[in-house]
Amino acid sequence: MTALPFDIPGELRVGGERTPADGNEQFVVDDPATGDTLSQVHNASEDDARAAVDAAADALASWSATPPRERGEILRRAFELLTERADDLAKVIVLENGKAMPDARGEAVYSAEFFRWFSEEAVRIDGSLTHAPSGANRIIAIRQPVGVSILVTPWNFPAAMATRKIAPALAAGCTVVLKPASDTPLTALAVADVLAEAGVPDGVVNVVPARRSGPVVDAMLSHPATRKLSFTGSTEVGRSLLERAAPRVLNCSMELGGNAPFIVFADADLEAAVDGAMLAKMRNGGESCIAANRFYAEASIADEFSGRLAQRMAAMKVGPGIDPSNEVGPLVNEKSRDEVAELVAAAVDGGAKVRAGAEVPDRRGWFYTPTVLSEVDPGSAILEHEIFGPVAPVVSFSTEDEAVALANDTEFGLAAYLYTGDLARGLRVSEAIETGMVGLNRGFISDPAAPFGGVKQSGLGREGVHDGILEFLETKYIAASW
Ligand code: NAP
Ligand code: MG
Repeated sequence: MTALPFDIPGELRVGGERTPADGNEQFVVDDPATGDTLSQVHNASEDDARAAVDAAADALASWSATPPRERGEILRRAFELLTERADDLAKVIVLENGKAMPDARGEAVYSAEFFRWFSEEAVRIDGSLTHAPSGANRIIAIRQPVGVSILVTPWNFPAAMATRKIAPALAAGCTVVLKPASDTPLTALAVADVLAEAGVPDGVVNVVPARRSGPVVDAMLSHPATRKLSFTGSTEVGRSLLERAAPRVLNCSMELGGNAPFIVFADADLEAAVDGAMLAKMRNGGESCIAANRFYAEASIADEFSGRLAQRMAAMKVGPGIDPSNEVGPLVNEKSRDEVAELVAAAVDGGAKVRAGAEVPDRRGWFYTPTVLSEVDPGSAILEHEIFGPVAPVVSFSTEDEAVALANDTEFGLAAYLYTGDLARGLRVSEAIETGMVGLNRGFISDPAAPFGGVKQSGLGREGVHDGILEFLETKYIAASW
């Protein structure tokens, strides 16, 4: 059994205290590489969740009145502490999520960067002053914090999905309650402790791990002090949360599921396309909302592309993420692993050819071998669902219009990737693709300085850049005469 790199007390974090859950109820967090228990974490009840919203409400007036420069400096300190401790945080991420160590280190650094970015944005909250066209008055627009915000995050980036919300919320002057995914609550608790050390006042960031997510989140959404819900997770849960946020007309930001197409035109630099495909597919072992989910290769190069990709995928070293030489860790849990295996089996039944992998290795933990399928039937379920695993299905196409039509044939619209040597075509296709983000001759697009988010059923709103702080601000208009 691997030990955590530092002690992470399992209590809730409410109002600056470590608070046991109602009746001291706890749940187990395990290591997906072995199935062993890592730790016990307190299981928040609905009353615990309401108490956390009370704490956030109590802290709001003082935090929102704290000068932006001071808020920014606390966030800057959080960036420095998280950066100093990135290696230890990466170990926690590996142990509860399973991802490979290089991916976890990348996430730890990425998650810290949101505090640096939003420490700088805290002092750039703008407004405007204009003349009414009639000349009768002035129009003043100011921005004010939305208020108490509920943050609900997934297990696939347990640090970064939390800090991408906490950092802009705090920069804007909001206070928060974070409900982390029940597979990965330890990283969130560790981040909250670092924030307290950085000087975030009591009650500004509260954390309520919970196994009964539905009722616990509902208790917070119906609390009269709650003003906002920022959610990252599946489209299915996002849809349901929008309905449950409707009775109180809560301000909602939604980062939902994806089904990213990866298009390779025959005029692309094939080596660069394969490098990009490896990044877009295999970061986080494929457990990413922006993971390339469907590969479309122009017919004349489809076989060569599949072959080169298969070679690279088959060469990846699979094993527990805690050993830094491993490149692919286990999936997060047994259910996820089984779902990936079933999607592959169905595609193969439908005529797809296995070019690499498609195996459940004979070892402990929830591993699946990196897989490439070619000649995948365009109607296969594997092309419609988020695979969320190390599997690359390849389909061939003949014309640019066909590639765009295939790419857009989905309810999702988060990310897309395309490789071409013709920049005019690259920009034309980028504009035609219905997604919030496009990687043009790039397989890696995440950046705190860029607007991250989706169209269609992949979400509402953007995180990162200046847009991210606007999600936690409301505009007030003052009609003034003087
Ligand atoms: P999920 O099942 O939707 O869960 C996300 C969060 O919602 C978790 O904290 C979960 O808690 C909670 N939750 C689940 N059911 C709930 C309910 N009925 N009411 C209230 N809360 C509920 O998603 P996931 O499996 O953790 O994460 C994978 C998904 O996230 C994928 O679809 C991926 O594309 C998406 N994602 C999107 C982005 C983006 O930026 N667009 C980024 C990362 C991931 P429990 O853990 O207790 O179930
Ligand atoms: Mg686990």
